[in-house]
Order: sequence, then C-alpha cells, then structure tokens
Amino acid sequence: MRLPAQSRMRKGIAMKQTAGRDQLGTFAPEFAHLNDDILFGEVWDQEALSTKTKCMLTVTTLMAQGITDSSLLYHLQNAKKHGVTRAEIAALITHVTMYAGWPKGWAVFNLAKQVWTEDEEGAVTSPEGLSEDFPVGEPNTAYAKYFIGNSYLAPLGDPQLGARNVTFEPGCRNNWHVHHKGGQVLICIAGEGWYQEWGKPVQKLTPGDVVSIAPEVKHWHGAMKDSWFQHIALAVPAEGATNEWLEPVEDKDYLALA
Ligand code: MN
Repeated sequence: MRLPAQSRMRKGIAMKQTAGRDQLGTFAPEFAHLNDDILFGEVWDQEALSTKTKCMLTVTTLMAQGITDSSLLYHLQNAKKHGVTRAEIAALITHVTMYAGWPKGWAVFNLAKQVWTEDEEGAVTSPEGLSEDFPVGEPNTAYAKYFIGNSYLAPLGDPQLGARNVTFEPGCRNNWHVHHKGGQVLICIAGEGWYQEWGKPVQKLTPGDVVSIAPEVKHWHGAMKDSWFQHIALAVPAEGATNEWLEPVEDKDYLALA
C-alpha cells in the first residue's frame, strides 16, 4: 500500500530523503528525482522486507563493493536507527568480511565504531524523537516490576490528580492490567506505540491519538520495538479506584507486532 509521504514518516518506515535534490537538483534533476522519489520513496517502502533487513542488505552491498565513504556512514547510522544492535552489526561485518575481503572488514569496522559508540549491550539507547513540550521525569522505579524495559514518569500539575507523562524506551511496555472503577485516558504526544485490549487486535498509536480506557477492561500499552513512545496518562477519578497488574505481554506476541 502506498502512503502519502507525511504518513510514511509518521509510521517511521520511510527514508524521507532530499539528498538528491539538495545536492544535484539543479545539476541533474532526473537523478535527484530517481534518488529521492524512487529509490528512497518507493523501493525503501517495499513492505515484503522490514526496514531493518533493508538497512542490513544495504550495508552489506556497499561493503562488498568497498564503498566506505559518507554514504556507508549514512546507512550505518540508518541501520542503528532501525534497531540493528552493536552485536548484530559486528556479526554482519564479520560475516561479510569472509566473502568480501579482509581490508573491507577493517574499513567498515572503523566506521561502525563511530556509530555504535559506547553503547553497552542492553543499555538504554539515547532518546530520539521525544516531545520538546513535556518533561521525561524520573526512571519509573515504583512500577518497574509491572513493565518490561525502561520507562520514565513525569507528574504533570498536581501529582494527586494523576496526570503523568509516561516515556517508554523502544521495546518497553507495561503488563496486562485493569483500572478498576476509574478508567484511564491516554493522549499520545510523541513516537510510536501500541494499545491492546484483551481479545482484540492491537492498535497503533501515533501523536494526536487519544485512547479512552473504560474501567474493568484488561489491556496493555507501550512503545513499538524500534521507537520511543510518550503518552500522557490521565487517571479517571472514581471512588475506590485501583489498578490491578497482571501477566506480562510475552516477547513472542510483542515481537510479532508490525
Ligand atoms: Mn492502562
């Protein structure tokens, strides 16, 4: 399915690219069009391959040709942005080295080390695409046992009123849970996430989406696996309102979402 550019960017799958027009728009307008609209507009949009896979294929192909200039650096950065970990890129470069040649391995490792800098395995990745208008707050230690991954809480206004900005790192989501008596309203402000009610299909969340969660409905919410996500959570006040925390959203179910 083709989507308008704006929508593709919101899905985070498109490589909105203007390098062709920026650098060659006057000198070679047809080349600029092919680069920006066809290669990065349509070919990078093919849904049969994930963006992460396309990033890995592109790095492999450039490396195999011995192209280790700024275009490879760009594609290494893009690979990291779409979820390629340091361990994965190290394994990829090692693998391709065996087929493409030892000096290419060294050249690409030198670039990759600039991109995957001091990241430790499992460390929190640096936040990307967060709201500039709301605070991230503090690590959500109080509820960490009900979350997979790291999240952050920032009370908004009077903490007693239960309005909070919740920030989820990529892959972070809360356990299945129920808001008893009072419900909850989620106002999505940045990044991309998921919301699911028990027995229903998952819903994609992007900034501007508002989710009204009725009391007694079992559900979970959180980030997509390769995107940070922020929503404001409003607790709907009610006499004797409580939250009941249930089982985690299993990796096999969560990782299958796309
Ligand atoms: Mn909830």
